[in-house]
Amino acid sequence: MQDIWNAALRELQTKVSTENFESWFEKIRFHHCDEEIFYLAVDDDFFKAWIEDNYLDLIEDALAEATGEAVEVVLDVEEALEGEGQALQVDLDGQRQAARTARLDDDIQTALFDYADEEQQSRDLDQVVSDSGMNPRYTFDEFVVGTSNQFTYAACRAVANTPAQTYNPLFIFGGVGLGKTHLLQAIGVQMLEQDPRAKVMYLSSEEFMNQLITSLRNKEMNSFRNQFRNDCDLLLVDDIQFIGGKDSTQEEFFHTFNALYQSGKQIVVTSDKSPQDLPGIEERLASRFSWGLIADIQPPGIETRVAILEKKAEADGIEMNKDVAMLLASSIRSNVRELEGTLIRLGAQASLMGTPLTVEFAREMLDRMNIDHRRRIGVDEIMRTVASHFDITVSDMKGPRRTRAISEPRQIAMYLSRKHTKHSYPELGRRFGGKDHTTVLAACKKLRELVEIEDNDFARSIADLESILFR
Ligand code: ADP
Ligand code: MG
Repeated sequence: MQDIWNAALRELQTKVSTENFESWFEKIRFHHCDEEIFYLAVDDDFFKAWIEDNYLDLIEDALAEATGEAVEVVLDVEEALEGEGQALQVDLDGQRQAARTARLDDDIQTALFDYADEEQQSRDLDQVVSDSGMNPRYTFDEFVVGTSNQFTYAACRAVANTPAQTYNPLFIFGGVGLGKTHLLQAIGVQMLEQDPRAKVMYLSSEEFMNQLITSLRNKEMNSFRNQFRNDCDLLLVDDIQFIGGKDSTQEEFFHTFNALYQSGKQIVVTSDKSPQDLPGIEERLASRFSWGLIADIQPPGIETRVAILEKKAEADGIEMNKDVAMLLASSIRSNVRELEGTLIRLGAQASLMGTPLTVEFAREMLDRMNIDHRRRIGVDEIMRTVASHFDITVSDMKGPRRTRAISEPRQIAMYLSRKHTKHSYPELGRRFGGKDHTTVLAACKKLRELVEIEDNDFARSIADLESILFR
């Protein structure tokens, strides 16, 4: 439940100003949840009234988003937290105080202060990163590398390690939700990590245009130019495609680019298309984009999708087994953002309903979300894939022979067919060349038991076969 409140907080953080968030939302504590009512604790009556008058709807919306269900929020004033929320609150002041009053020995006190310092530092960095308009979670560490993105990932790392010395500019392009913004910001986050005073400027090309318009209107072009051309060590421009056809914005961006480039500052740009394919971009700008390195991101394959889900689940404390990961990764193929969003919704729903995140539960939820999770593979494809993997023929598989070299792959194919299609045992018996349903049943039972033994080669080879099937 605390997870859901944390998810709602993250959502709220994107909806209100940092100042607002810190003054109000950060100070609200999750207390407990009963039926669909969320009980939140606040410090005093004034606080309670202010939130109720101004932000209750916003909070309910964020919680509804996180859980996928309509929820009601009740605020209560509370001096001290009790119950489940308490253990989860990291109250550093409280810890310091406790350390003092308990007269803990020096070692423990020092350790506590060190811990507090470290916390403080990482929070400061988060603050600096957020102040630059970036997401502190978009780091290289949080990015899962696979064949679809390793080239771009390596290019971004190189640029972050030695700005303006390897590839300048770096131009990243690829489809929606594939991690362009994440990698772009990871460069900025790393630079700020190394030097919190570095002048990292992150913005979308649309924001660039808006700032330009405002500066023109307010006759502040000098400070606009100064900010971009002289007061910037690293310029990260997201979604450059937006300035296609916007001539005066391109003109200004062109000069910004030149000024920065000439003074040896790194520029990184993302786009949904390659420079040549960008509509409405002037030739001189497109050609500058090609001066450095152009790197594209492709949609991730099934293994990478599973790895992304696992990383995300771990980060968000969602318990998810391999089968659920496989189900999600094979249902949502092209967009990582959607993949992540679905996982979070499923996790929140499971936790709200107090059930484990099983495959059955996940299927039901995907149905409700109208996400097609019916396997696109059929029995024939499974037979073909398994047969070729074990170097036998499909007729062997359907035939009567029962030597081990044939019966083992046959049993595996039966098991996979049962697991990944909707056919009944008798139906599967027919598909496997007219076998009795008890044969199929016995094969499935045996295989299920074999696979369940933790950490064995057999289970791994079945998983390999599944990744071939769902690639
Ligand atoms: P884009 O800018 O290409 O549309 P984003 O960078 O916004 O995509 O990515 C969408 C979401 O998917 C983000 O939450 C991002 O962290 C996540 N994401 C995308 N690719 C990966 C990856 N390879 N590893 C981890 N997270 C990823
Ligand atoms: Mg983006």
